[in-house]
Amino acid sequence: MSITPSHIIQHLYCPRFTYFEYVLAIPQYESRNYKVMRGRHLHDERLEQNKGYLRRRLGVVNRYDDQYLTNNLLRGRVDEVLELQDGSMAPLDYKFAEYKDKVYDTYKTQLYCYAWLIEDNFRKPVRRGFLVYTRSRNKVVEVPVRDEDKAAVRAAAEAIREIIGKNIFPRATKYKRRCLTCTYRNICIK
Ligand code: SF4
Repeated sequence: MSITPSHIIQHLYCPRFTYFEYVLAIPQYESRNYKVMRGRHLHDERLEQNKGYLRRRLGVVNRYDDQYLTNNLLRGRVDEVLELQDGSMAPLDYKFAEYKDKVYDTYKTQLYCYAWLIEDNFRKPVRRGFLVYTRSRNKVVEVPVRDEDKAAVRAAAEAIREIIGKNIFPRATKYKRRCLTCTYRNICIK
């Protein structure tokens, strides 16, 4: 199975999601906690609105739209891959959402996944990513991407592969509140 940023997000929410859904093949009903990351795609709207401003504001020297990228573990589609003046690159992702003074962890994880994919495919460092909140007049928010962030999503991808490949029943989330609304709570051994 090739892993997507959604799998990583679910796995980080609780590793047992990976087990129930992909080892036991019990479909889940999405909880709103991570459903939020699956924003509507906005290809037509965004293309017209954002032609020139990114280059000016963010120091973009090159832009690659709608990139489907893979490596040996992960696959994902990045709305835009930006090449910046300092020689680094950055993913940019559009969110059909309002900015409410906080970037959701799910959005960050998605950018970390893209950063990993970009580094593997373009062979340039990624140190930041950008989110565009289309319901806040295209507000652009910069998200730092540290080496440990990329390492964390890589570790999650490896754990997912291990769980599925070896039928491992993983540890429960340490955040017990998540179990209260979990779709698997009736079959999950606490
Ligand atoms: S009940 Fe809790 S431990 Fe079990 S899958 Fe759900 S969130 Fe994870």
